[in-house]
Amino acid sequence: MSGKKTMVSVGGEDVPLNDCDWVLWNPCGCPRGVAMARYFRTEDAAWLSFFGTWKAASLAQRNEQGLRVELMTHERYSAEVFPLMTGACPHKAVGA
Ligand SMILES: [Zn+2]
Repeated sequence: MSGKKTMVSVGGEDVPLNDCDWVLWNPCGCPRGVAMARYFRTEDAAWLSFFGTWKAASLAQRNEQGLRVELMTHERYSAEVFPLMTGACPHKAVGA
């Protein structure tokens, strides 16, 4: 790893990639996982970190419409997503 700062545009702001997290969102809208962008530099790398293999990742994408990965600042993750990680899914009664 070089010490060079990679900047990314997140929510209209340029921030260092090292300060960001990839969040895996379930189709219902609950966060399911997080990967630190300082270790997983691309969205593809994040998908692989969540599912282990491309086969598993594409299978999940096919079976769970709306499953997505979002890059956000660690600050936003801490404020908005982390609290949701610890709670039960409030969407379970809706849909199938
Ligand atoms: Zn949910």
